[in-house]
Amino acid sequence: MKGGEGGCCLKNGGSCCSKSGRTPEVVIIGNGSNILVLDGGFDGVIIKLGDEFTKIEQDGEQITAGAAALLSTVSKEAAQMGLAGMEFAGGIPGSLGGAVYMNAGAYGGEMKDVVKSVKAISRDGMREYLAYASELAFAYRHSIFAENGDIVTEVTLDLKSGDKAEIERRMKELSEKRNTKQPLRYPSAGSFFKRPEGHFAGALIEEAGLKGLSVGGAQVSELHAGFIVNTGGATSSDIISLMKLVQNTVRDKSGIELVPEVRIIGRD
Ligand SMILES: Cc1cc2nc3c(=O)[nH]c(=O)nc-3n(C[C@H](O)[C@H](O)[C@H](O)COP(=O)(O)OP(=O)(O)OC[C@H]3O[C@@H](n4cnc5c(N)ncnc54)[C@H](O)[C@@H]3O)c2cc1C
Repeated sequence: MKGGEGGCCLKNGGSCCSKSGRTPEVVIIGNGSNILVLDGGFDGVIIKLGDEFTKIEQDGEQITAGAAALLSTVSKEAAQMGLAGMEFAGGIPGSLGGAVYMNAGAYGGEMKDVVKSVKAISRDGMREYLAYASELAFAYRHSIFAENGDIVTEVTLDLKSGDKAEIERRMKELSEKRNTKQPLRYPSAGSFFKRPEGHFAGALIEEAGLKGLSVGGAQVSELHAGFIVNTGGATSSDIISLMKLVQNTVRDKSGIELVPEVRIIGRD
């Protein structure tokens, strides 16, 4: 963890000092792939785990890794070790900590299927603890860390011995699928909205006739309507205006409320 005002928070039991005298908002950032910062910036404290939190170690069928390790790296290393279970995560551009927070998932797999336990630090920096998967309130794109704001520092994954060539084949197959189905040539935060129960956000948006709709440089992807992409020079305000337009139109047409999966921080 780097110092700054975040360091002050952790050392002083969460009583953060800011120039304005206000208690600043504290946000933990992983790889930043699912965070949108509003155009007015963020004047709180950002905590980002440093390189010490990227170690990956194997113990039989378990891997223990620092929360800043990238999912792509952990998945590749698991494959190298002949351990199956992380293939689904190879193309998700996040860190292990961010993936636990989000209960990230793809192609039928979710973090909740592979996490055995995590080490975390309480939001006020006063307590380091170990928690097992059953205590983490995992649900669709949700974990207890979205409720308590604690910091995941280390994750232990329970994987299964498998055939290395078969694991690598599956990862390649999923990567090709991702490359053809997702608009990866433009910056985005992935699927912008959570999947409403019983529906797919992308399908609802497409059915509402919104594929390709633009506000400034922000566009509902032509390739996958669940993505809002930056086709060039999009401001956060373009993205938020487009998000609201999509939410209002889908609500009018289908009665379904789309909720952002992306975490929005900062001020206009
Ligand atoms: C092209 C693209 C494709 C994507 N595909 C998928 C997909 O298939 N499936 C999927 O689920 N997601 C997908 N995503 C979204 C995103 O990559 C994942 O949710 C990822 O797990 C977020 O990890 P991150 O490290 O980038 O988190 P960040 O974006 O940095 O943070 C996300 C949230 O996690 C919290 N957080 C981060 N690190 C920690 C920590 N150590 N402790 C506690 N809280 C923490 C943050 O405070 C924030 O609330 C995609 C995104 C993109 C851009």
